Amino acid sequence: MSSDDGNRPRLHLTRAGGRTRVHPWIYRGEIAGLEGEPEPGAAVTVIDGSGAFAGVGFYNPRTSLACRILTRREEAVDAAFFAARIAGALAYRRAAGLASDAYRLVWSEGDGLPGLVVDRYGAVSVVQCFTLGMSRVIDWIAAGLRAAVGDGPVYLADDPAGARLEGFEPRRGWLDREGPETVTVREGDARFRVRLGAGHKTGFYLDQAENRARVGRRAAGRRVLDAFSYSGGFAVHALAAGAEHAICLDSSPEALAGARENLALNGLAERAELREVNAFDELRRLEREHARFGLVILDPPPFTRRRDALEAARRGYKEINLRAMRLLGPGGLLATFSCSHHVSPAFFEDVCRAAAEDAGVTLRTLGALTQSGDHPVLLTVPETRYLKGLLLERL
Ligand code: SAH
Repeated sequence: MSSDDGNRPRLHLTRAGGRTRVHPWIYRGEIAGLEGEPEPGAAVTVIDGSGAFAGVGFYNPRTSLACRILTRREEAVDAAFFAARIAGALAYRRAAGLASDAYRLVWSEGDGLPGLVVDRYGAVSVVQCFTLGMSRVIDWIAAGLRAAVGDGPVYLADDPAGARLEGFEPRRGWLDREGPETVTVREGDARFRVRLGAGHKTGFYLDQAENRARVGRRAAGRRVLDAFSYSGGFAVHALAAGAEHAICLDSSPEALAGARENLALNGLAERAELREVNAFDELRRLEREHARFGLVILDPPPFTRRRDALEAARRGYKEINLRAMRLLGPGGLLATFSCSHHVSPAFFEDVCRAAAEDAGVTLRTLGALTQSGDHPVLLTVPETRYLKGLLLERL
């Protein structure tokens, strides 16, 4: 784990200039050669094709994305480095008013810490390592975290798929001392119970926090369909803001158990109905029934994780959007999302337009939606933006 600047192994790139100076990803095919024998997951000094210093990054010979740059300065990548990066991430969120009860404190490349995600739920930090390099320095990360946010419990929730790819054992559990099984967090006026180590992501979809608030503000008096509801985030906000009724659809019983708990926690259970169904089938059925809603939310899982499966994803997005549009009465709202990395905002808008053409409905765009500000997007690293959505009104 030594990171002494002078003795670090060197990785030589074939390229120089432009993207090389601002984008942290280095693919195996872009490596001209190595000097020294870096251990998998260790820090290397990166030299560009012109012989100039290009940064310091974690190296992994196993993956095609072989190195991710951590810093553009010739500095040690050590405990102090991680402490400073984490403090910087916290300062950004505090200045932007984002450091609430539940928020993402570290968003990988977006915070200059590629391969690391940290979410905060009350006093608990949940850490996800996506790279071998990050998993090896978990003790530095935890120390930096505790220095920044206080000496709370740290839960490890490594991404199993990432771990397999990178060649490390994914960890799930408390780092050193035990913390609570659940944490109840506040998001605006709503409260949510997060089960640590259970469910999706780190337990909650923090990336939708601002969209839940925005959609909630328009929900009063409406009948709501929250398709792909997970633990009921949108439905809870909509009902708390005065929606008449909400139906949550999810294929996962665990997700719906979370939704039931969250609706009850906010005193909203009576106005909600949960359906354990395949949302594709249920949307079709509701359409046949001529059901009408004043607000539909479509927040599906990614339909593709690969660029070459985009066309199949297009069909999936078009299908659910087409059905949802047909369920809207005049003045009805549709909040529709895609979290697939390979789907661009323009592609998504195109799919929604095609769906509207087939449905024969005219829709006004009330806003383009994206991930919450605690998932910062770097202009020079477009991959840091993955969530896109549209808020549409049927005319
Ligand atoms: N809107 C939620 C997050 C949704 S995540 C929030 O704000 O918290 C996507 C959800 O879709 C997951 O809960 C998953 O269980 C569910 N899901 C995946 N495929 C589905 C399908 N075919 N039908 C219904 N639900 C599905």
